[in-house]
Parts: sequence; structure tokens; C-alpha cells
Amino acid sequence: VAVGLSLALTACGGGRGSDDNKASSGDNKGALIGVAMPTKVSERWIADGDAVKADLEKAGYKVDLEYANNQIPQQVQQVGNMITKGAKVLIIASIDGGSLSDQLDEAAKQGIKVISYDRLLTGNKNVDYYVSFDNEKVGVEQGTSLLQGLGVVDKDGKDLGKKGPFNIELFAGSNDDSNSAFFFKGAMSVLQPYIDKKVLVVKSGQTQFNQVTTLRWDPATAKARMQNLIAKSYSGGAIVNGVLSPYDGLSLGIVSALTGAGYGNGAKKLPVITGQDAEVPSLKSILAGQQYSTIFKDTRKLGHQAATMTNDLLTGKKPEVNDTKTYDNKVKVVPSYLFPPVVITKENVQTDVIATGYHTQAELDK
Ligand code: BGC
Repeated sequence: VAVGLSLALTACGGGRGSDDNKASSGDNKGALIGVAMPTKVSERWIADGDAVKADLEKAGYKVDLEYANNQIPQQVQQVGNMITKGAKVLIIASIDGGSLSDQLDEAAKQGIKVISYDRLLTGNKNVDYYVSFDNEKVGVEQGTSLLQGLGVVDKDGKDLGKKGPFNIELFAGSNDDSNSAFFFKGAMSVLQPYIDKKVLVVKSGQTQFNQVTTLRWDPATAKARMQNLIAKSYSGGAIVNGVLSPYDGLSLGIVSALTGAGYGNGAKKLPVITGQDAEVPSLKSILAGQQYSTIFKDTRKLGHQAATMTNDLLTGKKPEVNDTKTYDNKVKVVPSYLFPPVVITKENVQTDVIATGYHTQAELDK
């Protein structure tokens, strides 16, 4: 991933109206910012961490960037350490959105501001801002691209009158990540009418969110579930025509289960499979005609927004938000700044991903 939308954040204040938080009083020049990321297993979080760090350092801040290996206790400890080390702002992409309450309470006590990064921190009032993408829209786009890949709707989402039936299976993300339910809800809003009309058939019968989640977004878990679905629901010769997958890592696990069962070879075509994050292995898979689509979420923009908000908080400005209604964390509605997602198929890998410099052609060629 190529990092670096350049920006000119100034750590010297001025501008919009002042805020009475502690962090903004006194001299915050060169302050320490804690950045907690969930895991390095997935490429996107490495890109996020790099982007946030680069932008904050450019603005003169010190950054403590930590990855927690998808282990909740590790993340709890890392955030605790950031507080102890005197961080002025915490930027947190949680593993389990509800697991950091003690740390959030402690942060509030010390006047440390908290930005919930990409994933919403839940069940605690001490969450000041949320930066993310329009997560329900991500799901709508995933569902729509599944329908497009099956030829049920055209590129504008217009119904093409196909009767099917097409066999599909559904996957959702980790149930402790608040995004997962938004993605699934968005996708089902477009798929459910076609399930009701029997144009789409979920042969396993597993259509409820809690039946289809994938703990910790683990690709091996998705692969095992897909193998299981093939064995149980498709042993009589029926073919899987489509799979709703919420994340590229899962999509690759699903592809692997399917190719292991003889799909992608001769008449048994691989189903239409969605994804998310525009990770290199999935872009390659899309170009090779295996995975059908992904969702590009430009982590450089997200990182930049988190850095800008941090700088605003530390220089007495009010961070800009563009949504104050959607993200109820069960205790408060967290003011949010959301970016729009972009759907990618093999038609626009070049124009919408490579041309932006997010990934390079060389990465795809490797
Ligand atoms: C993010 C997705 C990502 C998933 C798995 C979600 O919270 O919004 O972009 O695919 O986590 O890492």
C-alpha cells in the first residue's frame, strides 16, 4: 500500500470556535497520540495504521501505534498503557467494541479524548467521535453487486426480470464488531425481496444474522463453514451460484472451500462472491475471474480524517462531522464523519484503485 495523502495539519491552534475539553487547553504541541489497531493479519489495518501515523507525525505529534493480534486482552492492555504514557487522544479500532469500557472511563477521567476508528466502541458514553464509512451502504453495495453478478439486476440496479432460482449462501462478519450488523442489514435490504420472490434461494436455510456470523472475521472459520454448507446442502448435485461475503479475507477462504469441492473447473463455475477492502490478493482473484467484487474503502482518507479530528481536538477546534443520527452505541449517538464506499469489479480495478495509487500495478503483478 502506498501511504501518504499529504496534508498540512497545524499543531498550533486558531480557527473555529473553541472547545472546553482538557486536551485542548495548554500546549499540546508534540503531544502523544495512542493509535490502537486490531490486527496485522489483514492488509487494510496495516494501511490504516500507516496512514494515521504518517498524518499525525507530519503534524508534529508523537504516535504510539499498536496492533493487538486480534486478542482482546492484548488490546485492553495496550490502550491502558497509552493512557499511562500520557496520550492526549486515543484513536481506537477495536476488536470487540464493548471490551474497552474501563479504559474509556479512565480516559475520560484524565480528559483524554477518544475517536472510535472505523468500528464503533459500544456501551460507553466516553466516545467522542466516530470516523468510518457508510457501513449500511457498504452492505447495500455488496448485495447489489451479488445481484449484478448473477445477472438479476443491471449495472444501475434495474431488475432484468430473471426468474432464477439462484442458490446463494450468506456470510456476515464478527458479531462483536458493530459494523457486521450494518453490513448485513444493508445487504439483506436488497437481497430479501428476491429471497421472498424465490429468485434467490438460501439452500441451507441460514438467513439470520446470528446464524451466519464469523467470529473475529477469521478466514479459516469461513472456509470451514462453506465446506460444511457444501457437504450438507449441496450434496444432491445442486450448485452454489452466489455467496454474500462481507470481507476479502473471508471471500478467499470461501473460494478455497469451493475450489476444493471442484468449483471453478469445467462446468461447475465458481459462484458470484462479494468482498470488502480491496486487498491485493482479492484484487488478483477478481482479475483472475474468481472473486466477483470487493468494496474499496480508502484508508488514507479515513486516517487523514482521524488525524484532522485529533488535531482539531488538541487545538481547540470542533471536529467536523457529517452524521449525528446513525451510530447509537447503546449509550449515546456518537457524532460521526463517514466516507462513501466504492464497489470494485474487474471493470474498475484500474481506474478506481490502481489509478488512485492505493495499490500499485507492481503489487498486482507480483
Ligand atoms: C471493517 C471492514 C473489514 C472488517 C474485517 C470491519 O470492521 O469495517 O473494512 O473488512 O472489519 O477486518
